[in-house]
Amino acid sequence: MFRAVLIDKDDNGQRVALTTLDEGQLPEGDVTVRIACSTLNYKDALAITGKAPVVRKFPMVPGIDFAGVVERSDHPGFRAGDKVVLNGWGVGEVHWGGLAELARVKGEWLLPLEPAFTMQQAMSIGTAGYTAMLCVMALERHGVRPESGEVLVTGAAGGVGSVAVAVLARLGYEVAAVTGRVEEADYLTRLGARRILPRSEFSEPGKPLAKERWAGAVDVVGGQVLANVCASVKYRGAVAACGLAGGLAFPATVAPFILRGVTLAGIDSVMCPLEERREAWRRLGQHLDPALLGEMTQRIALEDAITVSERLIAGAVRGRVIVPIDL
Ligand code: NAP
Repeated sequence: MFRAVLIDKDDNGQRVALTTLDEGQLPEGDVTVRIACSTLNYKDALAITGKAPVVRKFPMVPGIDFAGVVERSDHPGFRAGDKVVLNGWGVGEVHWGGLAELARVKGEWLLPLEPAFTMQQAMSIGTAGYTAMLCVMALERHGVRPESGEVLVTGAAGGVGSVAVAVLARLGYEVAAVTGRVEEADYLTRLGARRILPRSEFSEPGKPLAKERWAGAVDVVGGQVLANVCASVKYRGAVAACGLAGGLAFPATVAPFILRGVTLAGIDSVMCPLEERREAWRRLGQHLDPALLGEMTQRIALEDAITVSERLIAGAVRGRVIVPIDL
């Protein structure tokens, strides 16, 4: 038997509860993992609250990432006792996920734990931090260098934003952090932000082309904020867009793309190829100061994942939320 958060849905709506399940109920897969630590990502909070159709198969154990120890493996790449990490691949959406004591998954979805991190640290980073690194790598691929000028991070006090600020600063970029929570200014400065800008500066409809300010940007917000960010990126700059915390819409014009050669790079962490994942985790090991992880992370119990989800969706949670299960 093992404990898990379980989401179920019928004609009366969605219900979520901490439940005890039998191992025989686990989905198909060639590796069974004893979960040491999971996390609560924005997507998990959407799934648990039912605010967006993240879950596509019911009943579902949410949790798009976890770190743990292999208990049984029929996959040639993993043996009992191996420490592994999983991000995405539809886990927590169409395949039972990490907010549980046990998971059974395909071995091809797993990565060995990056040696630079403990399992708890790997989950402090989690899918949000790994996505932040994918965003940084996209900016680099599009020629944004520390000497190119100031870079912008939106939703900076959230999970993706916090890691993006810390990694970019460590790489030598001058980082401007956009936040709706001015009270988090000191926190963002400690992560490495040189300048804090209020979200209100970006949230109202603006001109198709504004003053050129940013060499590059990491955007987790979408909506009007992303449109305004694109309009103020410098000639041939790039924006890595990964989120929708401010909305799914994109009320922009093509002007920045066709008149300034700006690149809008879409970032998806879920189906990202294995090699790029390995590279992202390797780079996190190099460029993310583990000492900052404590400050970015709060710990909650498995049973609290349900209530904390509402706060996360409301943008009221700082940094990352981890769920230690068997550390
Ligand atoms: P998070 O910890 O909740 O952070 C989101 C941040 O966005 C909040 O902390 C807040 O930052 C800002 N925000 C919230 N509501 C807003 C609003 N209405 N308008 C403007 N800003 C708002 O979530 P996360 O884990 O960092 O994820 C951020 C986004 O990235 C989510 O949309 C998530 O789904 C997405 N994501 C995508 C991928 C992918 O593969 N593409 C992977 C991971 C995450 P401030 O208080 O600092 O303003």
